[in-house]
Amino acid sequence: MDGVEEMTKPLLSVVVPAYNEEAVLGVFYERMSALFDELPDYRCEMIFVNDGSRDRTQAIIDGFCERDARVASVNLSRNFGKEIAMTAGFDHASGDAVIVIDADLQDPPELIHDFIREWRAGYDIVYAKRTHRDGETWLKKATASAFYKVMDKVSGKVKIPRDVGDYRLMSRRSVDALLQLREQHRFMKGLFAWVGFPSKAIEYRRDPRAAGETKFNYWKLWNFALEGITSFTIAPLKIATYIGIFTAFSAFLFGLWIIGKTLFLDHDLPGYPSLMVTVLFLGGIQLFFIGVLGEYLGRIFGETKQRPLYFTQGHHPSRISSEPH
Ligand code: UDP
Ligand code: MG
Repeated sequence: MDGVEEMTKPLLSVVVPAYNEEAVLGVFYERMSALFDELPDYRCEMIFVNDGSRDRTQAIIDGFCERDARVASVNLSRNFGKEIAMTAGFDHASGDAVIVIDADLQDPPELIHDFIREWRAGYDIVYAKRTHRDGETWLKKATASAFYKVMDKVSGKVKIPRDVGDYRLMSRRSVDALLQLREQHRFMKGLFAWVGFPSKAIEYRRDPRAAGETKFNYWKLWNFALEGITSFTIAPLKIATYIGIFTAFSAFLFGLWIIGKTLFLDHDLPGYPSLMVTVLFLGGIQLFFIGVLGEYLGRIFGETKQRPLYFTQGHHPSRISSEPH
């Protein structure tokens, strides 16, 4: 094909965070290249971000880079977590549209056709919304559902859509906006929603993992949920205020009642059990909210250090994106 004509085609960058994914990368690569072949109107590149894998992930990616001009790699200096791995991918993506997808094929690559259609129709962010969660336990489904309910209640103006993962296409301008948010505590679902821009959901069925194991256990998911809430809203601090006001007011009424009782009824002063209950209950509430304060304080501590988000130990651009525009 004519070289000049080739260069004027829009560039699609597909960002793939990968942490110990040696078992699935080969299949992923095959499916993604097959999809690229179905998109002759675009220049396509895959940017693998190796998030400090301890298996052969980087070696496999290097192999792809060598034999395929469409493959790029970013090799992080250690495991930073998926949120930062995605950010590193966005930083290195120069596409007119950037797609982020899991390496485990839980997100069917074929959906990218629909993403592109909606992007062409004018949407900046096209995200995939799960209708089913095959291969996930009822406990994961139940906790995920509870999480979305809480987020919905507390997140105020910025609505985080339900059952939406990271799998999405973003236009150049929405990626540029996202990249300006450099906070350390990156709850990407929140950041995606925060930047705004016209968005569109595409429904899909989330497949079970093609191979390998999930990297998220319940403790990680719990921390992820905490991160989501604390990096997004100060509602827990407000709850502390209101509980404080409420208990102080109740204590005042209770005091009045005790004074009245002592003056007008009898002088009986039983009260050890109720005293214990009150002391322990209030002590518990106080400790709990000191913990909540601590969550915020810890995050402020993290942000004030202003460290770079990640370091790379190697970057290999795709030969498609590095040619002049
Ligand atoms: N991942 C990553 N860094 C991590 C954990 C996960 O880059 O510290 C990647 C992982 O390789 C995969 C994606 O994030 O491409 C989603 O991970 P996983 O499938 O384990 O999560 P789940 O689908 O079970 O939520
Ligand atoms: Mg997965």
